[in-house]
Amino acid sequence: QSLNNYLDLKGNIRVFCRVRPFHHEGGYQSRTMFTLDESNVFLKVAETKIKQYKFDKVFKQCSTQGDVFAEVEPVIKSALDGYNVCIFAYGQTGSGKTYTMEGKPTDLGVIPRGIQALFDRASESNRRILFTFSMLEIYMGNLRDLLVSGSKTNSLKKVPSLSIKTDPDGGIEIENLVAVTVNSFQEVKRLYEVGARLRSTASTMANSTSSRSHCLIRISLTSFDAPERKKARNKLWMIDLGGSERLVKTKATGKRLKEGKAINLSLSALGDVIDALQTKKSHIPYRNSKLTQVLRDSIGCESKTLMLVHIRPNEDDLCETICTLGFATRVR
Ligand code: ADP
Ligand code: MG
Repeated sequence: QSLNNYLDLKGNIRVFCRVRPFHHEGGYQSRTMFTLDESNVFLKVAETKIKQYKFDKVFKQCSTQGDVFAEVEPVIKSALDGYNVCIFAYGQTGSGKTYTMEGKPTDLGVIPRGIQALFDRASESNRRILFTFSMLEIYMGNLRDLLVSGSKTNSLKKVPSLSIKTDPDGGIEIENLVAVTVNSFQEVKRLYEVGARLRSTASTMANSTSSRSHCLIRISLTSFDAPERKKARNKLWMIDLGGSERLVKTKATGKRLKEGKAINLSLSALGDVIDALQTKKSHIPYRNSKLTQVLRDSIGCESKTLMLVHIRPNEDDLCETICTLGFATRVR
């Protein structure tokens, strides 16, 4: 048994925490509510009370995109070994999820770095691997393809909700989801921009924001051992989850309230699934949300899951931070 196999026995679900730097809103700087070490957050929940939250890895405010990617890269690369992989960014709106996943043009995040690493590694390998790229969002329980050709109309109504199909062997397929064969990072980048544009117009049309939906990137891999002889298919998911903030805080009403409820329901369904896997329950409640239905064959059993939990350091976010760390504790 190789060392890698041995280490794998540690379990296939990892939970990391990233703390974003202070936001100096209006020049006001509040106190930091916690101290950090390599794998713990020590949160001051009351004047004399400190609560400890354990992680597989903690990234401090000063951590760079490169620091984060160095820890995420092995998980992404395991997609080349045939694993289904899910990487999630979790946290309240403004906690740095999109920064971690997408990054900035000058400081790329996990998605572009990960895709680049896959292409690099695949070109070094003598196996032939076919990659396809898909991009979708889950909004109010509907799956919307962000690469669908009708997207030029900018009309949400013309983008139908997709349905989920289960293969006889338990594999999950999203019917009619566009999956474009990609051969280079540049091709992926162009597609990503198309998807991101539709996502932003769609949320403007719905008078909403993208923080009220989940954005999912799917890379499908097909490896061939001999020319045209299909060997194996697996998937890498990279998911920027909707904001986890509680509804009381946002004082949402009407449509916003419904959106918030949909997000919160699916986030707690995700937490329930991971918790059930971690505690080896016999029933894993995948059916409770579209998010967990879509990911049914990619979270659990032979798959690898990485939860990147994001928190803000500000004192005014203490309640949200406690909730977020509570979620992290549940899934770890
Ligand atoms: P979310 O996607 O969780 O709503 P964002 O990723 O949009 O949050 O982050 C909110 C703001 O904070 C953005 O302007 C982003 O560039 C900035 N930001 C987030 N995390 C970091 C970080 N680690 N370093 C520097 N800026 C960050
Ligand atoms: Mg975001």
